[in-house]
Amino acid sequence: MAIERTLSIIKPDATRRNLTGAINARFEERGLRIVGQRRVHLTTAQAEAFYAVHKERSFFGSLVEFMCSGPVVVQVLEGEDAVTLNREVMGATNPANAEAGTIRKDFAESIEANSVHGSDSPENAAKEIAFFFAEVDIVG
Ligand code: GDP
Ligand code: MG
Repeated sequence: MAIERTLSIIKPDATRRNLTGAINARFEERGLRIVGQRRVHLTTAQAEAFYAVHKERSFFGSLVEFMCSGPVVVQVLEGEDAVTLNREVMGATNPANAEAGTIRKDFAESIEANSVHGSDSPENAAKEIAFFFAEVDIVG
C-alpha cells in the first residue's frame, strides 16, 4: 500500500453543530494526517462545479443548495491507502446503511446532510485536491 492523499469536506450540517474537532479526531485516530485545511463558504458556482458529475441526478439542485447553506471545511488527508481508508471511516452515503462507529452513522442527519465528503478514487482525489488547494498550502 502506498501513501496517498484524499480530499475531504466537513459539510455544513456538521460545521453548524460544531463537529469539526470530533470529526477530525476520527481521522487522526485512524492514522489519517490532516496536511491541508481551510474553512470556506462555497458559492453556488463552486458547489455546482465540484459536484458536476452529479448534475443529471434528481437531487443535484438540493445538494448544491445544502452545500452552500453554511461554511464547510475542505481538507487534504494523507496516509496509507488514504482514499479507501477515509471511505471506511466515513461510512455509507446513507447513514441508515452505515456501519457502527463510522462518521456518518454517528453524526449524519440524512442521506443528503451526511456530514462528510471523501474522494472515491485516487484519480478523483487528485482532481478534487487541485480544485481547492495549491501545492504550497499542503504541508505533509
Ligand atoms: P458519496 O460519495 O458517499 O458522498 O455519495 P455520492 O457521490 O453518491 O453523492 C454525493 C452526495 O450527494 C452525497 O454525499 C449526499 O450528500 C448527496 N446524495 C446522494 N444520494 C442522495 C439522494 O438520494 N438524495 C439526496 N437528497 N442527496 C443525495
Ligand atoms: Mg461521491
